[in-house]
Amino acid sequence: MSLPVYLDNNATTPCDPRVLEVMLPYFTEMFGNAASRSHPFGWTAEAAVDHAREQVARLIGAQPQEIVFTSGATEAVNLAIKGVFETYATKGNHIITCVTEHKAVLDTCKHLEKKGAVITWLPVDEDGLPDPAAVEAAITPQTILIAIMYANNETGVINPVPAIGAIAKKHGIIYMSDATQAVGKIPVHVDHDGIDLLTLSAHKMYGPKGVGALYVRRRSPRVKLTAQMDGGGHERGMRSGTLNVPGIVGLGMACEICQQEMEAEAKRLSAMRNRLQEALLQIEHTYVNGSVIHRLPHVMNISFQYIEGSTLLMGFNKTIALSSGSACTSASMEPSYVLKALGLGDNLAHASLRFALGRFTTDEQIDYTIRMVTDTVNRLRAESPLWEMYKDGHLQDTGSWAHHQEQG
Ligand SMILES: *Cc1c(COP(=O)(O)O)cnc(C)c1O
Repeated sequence: MSLPVYLDNNATTPCDPRVLEVMLPYFTEMFGNAASRSHPFGWTAEAAVDHAREQVARLIGAQPQEIVFTSGATEAVNLAIKGVFETYATKGNHIITCVTEHKAVLDTCKHLEKKGAVITWLPVDEDGLPDPAAVEAAITPQTILIAIMYANNETGVINPVPAIGAIAKKHGIIYMSDATQAVGKIPVHVDHDGIDLLTLSAHKMYGPKGVGALYVRRRSPRVKLTAQMDGGGHERGMRSGTLNVPGIVGLGMACEICQQEMEAEAKRLSAMRNRLQEALLQIEHTYVNGSVIHRLPHVMNISFQYIEGSTLLMGFNKTIALSSGSACTSASMEPSYVLKALGLGDNLAHASLRFALGRFTTDEQIDYTIRMVTDTVNRLRAESPLWEMYKDGHLQDTGSWAHHQEQG
């Protein structure tokens, strides 16, 4: 078994060799510009892009003409939210979103807040779920957009998307869902889910970095967007700029593979994840963060009380690659805003690790991870004065983590 074990697949996934293989010719002999209409180099590139558009559309139940290629999910989110805000300015200026969204959504909304948008930031319950009834209650005559993600990148929690989509439809409001973590992992269908705008990214689904897509509904309702990039009028005017043909070809292939393998892969990964979870919950004072029912099959976020996640990571001595619930934004270590939104105190948020398994995770690696995490937690706790105090009964096990049912 090769080390380190990679369990940070929500940050990025390796590019599948089958994806790389179909991309390679588009860097060399098939280098044409997909917008060149006057010669075979352009036609070949355009045909490849058309094929990829079909592959992406098929995975999410869309039509190929509804797919706009972008540089990734961040750009797709910006185009969707800013594009709606500008186009529907005469209708209203109110956007409903949720505190656990990815920074791409939160920061875009904050940006628009300075430009006159009114934003409702919905909370989540201790499972990490927003309440569809709260979404409906927040709607005003000025509401132009609901932006609530499909599955959360930190906890893996899957939101009640079809319920939110139905509410949006009932009130005639556009529903955007950042589905970057869900597409290719669980079934996503823009019609069944009632989604009008959806974002996805190739590098979260075993494709290359720097390419993604925005789904834009064309019928009932037809969603209009103001372009955020002006130029040659590519992508039906919604996103100018010469298309990243190799990247788009890779995204298409990544979608096709996910579609074929999703069902079996979800079974394989959830069995592995559950085995990891059961083993780690044998360690006392260990808590799973977020819903264990509405959750992606390959993700688990877990807190080990009285130990900093970052200290744990160091304890693994670089043999396991994963993320802790402390974001290194600027110079300071901030506890994860997502975990805090679930009601975790700073301590438990800092004490968390996110395990995100993937296509190339093996049983052997999970065995190693179970041993390494268990040994490291036990060793660090044995050295910890906090743990000693707790054991001696000098530390009350209350406060910020009181709502957590003890599971370990
Ligand atoms: C990774 C991620 C993004 C950003 O995607 P990029 O393609 O890297 O810009 C947006 N939203 C979610 C939920 C993500 O996980």
